[in-house]
Amino acid sequence: MTTHQCDICHKEISDGAVIYVRIGWFSNGKELCEICAKPVVNFMKKNGFIKDRLADKS
Ligand SMILES: [Zn+2]
Repeated sequence: MTTHQCDICHKEISDGAVIYVRIGWFSNGKELCEICAKPVVNFMKKNGFIKDRLADKS
């Protein structure tokens, strides 16, 4: 079983719930839980860092 850890809250994340952020300051790749990823994703959407295809997932 693979475990992931959120890079913001350091909570363990199950395999299916991990969200990878690899844009801008996160160019090395970050693993975030859904709760921490949400404001980051919203911020990036607002600033045009990501396209809507990623937003469709939620
Ligand atoms: Zn988190």
